[in-house]
Amino acid sequence: MAEVSLRQISKSYDGHRLAVRNLDLVCRQGEMLALLGPSGCGKSSTLKMVAGIEPVTSGEILFDGIDVTHRDSAGRNVAMVFEDYSLYPHLSAFENIAFPLRVRSVCAAEVSRKVHEVVNLLNLQSLMGVPVRSLSGGAQQRVSIGRALVRDPALVMFDEPLSHLDADQKAVLRTEIRRLQLTAGLTSVLVTHDQTEAMAMADRIAVMNDGELQQVGLPQELYEHPANRFVAGFIGESPMNFLDATVDSGTGAVFLNDAAAVHAPIWVVREPGCPGNSQLVLGIRPEDIRIRASQGEDALTLMARIIDRESCGDRMIFLAAVGSCRINIEMPTPAPLRVGDHVCCYLPVDRLHAFEVESGRSRALRSLPC
Ligand code: ADP
Ligand code: MG
Repeated sequence: MAEVSLRQISKSYDGHRLAVRNLDLVCRQGEMLALLGPSGCGKSSTLKMVAGIEPVTSGEILFDGIDVTHRDSAGRNVAMVFEDYSLYPHLSAFENIAFPLRVRSVCAAEVSRKVHEVVNLLNLQSLMGVPVRSLSGGAQQRVSIGRALVRDPALVMFDEPLSHLDADQKAVLRTEIRRLQLTAGLTSVLVTHDQTEAMAMADRIAVMNDGELQQVGLPQELYEHPANRFVAGFIGESPMNFLDATVDSGTGAVFLNDAAAVHAPIWVVREPGCPGNSQLVLGIRPEDIRIRASQGEDALTLMARIIDRESCGDRMIFLAAVGSCRINIEMPTPAPLRVGDHVCCYLPVDRLHAFEVESGRSRALRSLPC
């Protein structure tokens, strides 16, 4: 399996607008790298350029340091798994998996050996003789993964592989792909718009928006230290809350704009060359808001009124009004809050994020010294 490097890759279909812009990215040997972003952000275009299905407009693609930018698909040995399985419905699971070997005129004994190897890896033994059209979506996708693996590809790319599946099949196949990736040491790229999928399956995640890479890192890094407001809003089960704030240009202290709040301003640490903007957006995740103060913890305090609630089984999400703003608060079930309650919320300073208004870029915060 190969290490794959993208250097300053751009793609334009019509000669004008860039679907992918100056993308620098490495997929390391043996890792699963997720390309995560909303629909239309350039994930599939990137995948197709790596596979050699679409030519790059500019930039270079290297496999193990070798420039493959101008090689066709066959010359790169990349396998793809698509959301719609792309199988031959009338053929058996065995024949679908064998297909890439048959078109390469591999001898029958070798076909049988390779297919059985993959079938054992994927536990597909009982399905081998069945026409794939009679299989469930999850089983069809496992067959299409088998077909991808049978020719020992340098890289496996999954383009939204779970999109067509029911929730229960999704969960099973998610675990299955992850197990396979780890046991077989696959170098793989997973394209998805679903952050839960990326967080659960990938070693590292590259977040894209509007053709541009926003941030690449470990799932936990993106969750804890989003580089900008877009990543902060995209990563996380319930969306991050954003609150408008003002920075005192003299002291660097930050205050929430809404009147409904706040003791204890916090500092925003100015970075060299940073414009002295006086507006800032503060971010706090619903699961980081407390309704009881912890001893010795630095926190912003604000008053909120609970206006709605939603049960998610083991936790509750409360919608609350803070002045004219709306925030979500997440708590384990049972939660001691009712609609109509006025509650004091604590926003621990070490869980707060700050973003520039215009660029969305993340800014460092620290507590105001007493
Ligand atoms: P994603 O996979 O993230 O949804 P795509 O890579 O499919 O995004 O698309 C990125 C942008 O490129 C979109 O604006 C899309 O309309 C455009 N695009 C994708 N494929 C083509 C194509 N074959 N011709 C013209 N525009 C395309
Ligand atoms: Mg796509």
